[in-house]
Amino acid sequence: MIQTPAQGVLFCYNIVSMPTIRLHNQDVAYDVRRSHRARYMRLTMHRGGDFVVTVPDGIAPFRIEALLLQKARWILSKTHLLSEPKPVMRRGGRREYLKLRESARRLVMERLAYWKQHYPFQFGTVRIKNHKAVWGSCSVKKNLNFNYRLIQLPLELADYVIVHELCHTLELNHSTRFWNLMQKFLPNYRNLRDQLKKQSLKML
Ligand SMILES: [Zn+2]
Repeated sequence: MIQTPAQGVLFCYNIVSMPTIRLHNQDVAYDVRRSHRARYMRLTMHRGGDFVVTVPDGIAPFRIEALLLQKARWILSKTHLLSEPKPVMRRGGRREYLKLRESARRLVMERLAYWKQHYPFQFGTVRIKNHKAVWGSCSVKKNLNFNYRLIQLPLELADYVIVHELCHTLELNHSTRFWNLMQKFLPNYRNLRDQLKKQSLKML
C-alpha cells in the first residue's frame, strides 16, 4: 500500500479505505479493482469522485504506482475539479463552525475513552479540523485528526471513523492486517464503510 512518506501522515480520504499517492505535492486517493478479464491497467474517474485503477489479476503494486506517476498530469487535471469545496461548507459561519467543532471534540474524546476500554490504544494529540476531503488522518507519531463534521454523522458512522484511525495507530496502512483489526473491533465494518461512502458524497 502506498503511504505519504513526505509528511508521514496517512490521510483517509472519503470512504477512509483508499490508498493514496502523492503527485506533485497533492495526495490523491484511488481505488484498485482487480479483474481477471482486464489485460491492461486502466484509469477511470467515476461520478462522485472515485478514482479507480482497474488492473489485471496479480499485478505488482509498484506497477500500479508507476502508472499513476506516469499519468500524474492527467490525474491532477481531473482531481482539481473534485477538490473545490461544496457550497454547504461553513454555511452557518464561524460561530456555528466553532460550536460544531466543540461538540465534535466532546464526542471524539468520549468515544476514544470508550474504545480504550477494549484495547490499550496509544495515541498522541487529538485535533478536530475543518478538513475538506477526509474524515480523519493518523501520523507516524500517532497524532489523530478528525473532521468536525463527524458530529453530523450517525453515531455508528462517527465510531467507524474513530475506530479506523485508532487501528492506524497499530497499522499505518490499509493492508489486510489493518482490515483484520477493523473486523475485530467492528465486525460489521464493511457495511458501515459503505454507508459512510454514501454520506461522504453528500457531506464532504
Ligand atoms: Zn485509513
